[in-house]
Amino acid sequence: MNIFNCKILFNGPRNSNKIAITFDDGPHRKFTPMILDLLAEKQTHATFFATGKSIVNNKELAEEIASRGHLLGNHTYNHVSALSTNRERLRDEIVRTREVIEDISGKPNHYLRPPYGHISPALLSICREMELSLVLWSLNSKDHHGKPAPWIVNRIKKRIKSGAVLLFHEGHFSDRTRDYSPTITALAEVLEDIMLKGLTPVTIAEFFEAL
Ligand SMILES: [Zn+2]
Repeated sequence: MNIFNCKILFNGPRNSNKIAITFDDGPHRKFTPMILDLLAEKQTHATFFATGKSIVNNKELAEEIASRGHLLGNHTYNHVSALSTNRERLRDEIVRTREVIEDISGKPNHYLRPPYGHISPALLSICREMELSLVLWSLNSKDHHGKPAPWIVNRIKKRIKSGAVLLFHEGHFSDRTRDYSPTITALAEVLEDIMLKGLTPVTIAEFFEAL
């Protein structure tokens, strides 16, 4: 979808047999290493929409994400909503996060997932100016609702198909003590299911290049 010359991605090509797994709100000291291990076991890559603040607080983990070939995406610095933040502050949040991502990964930052999926005219104009594409999702794991792992697995198994963009979380954006172990347990099973169905996980960048 293209709105005011700003690209917005909900899903990738439907006939590609590819899917994209995305993780928001990290890096998280406890859960990110577990996610990285599970992805490495399956030799697969994902996209991590991180806040600038969490990257700065967990620099080594962010470096690990990038060095293992995963994509670091922009999720603003302080997890702000485009609907309640003025243009100047919103731009600053996105610019600062782009700087830390580019500094750590050594690659240009082209992708932003707006916190809460909130989009405003100001955000669209910032994205156009900064040549950022917006990435939403087509399949929400709802792992932030406190449901047990089997519930998350079942939800995804029933709905996953070629071109899907899956949304998971690495932790809660402000409450860093909240337990996300159901996400980790679910992810292991979801990865098995994806492989069984012949789907290949790719990063968001690969999806965009294919469009
Ligand atoms: Zn978020």
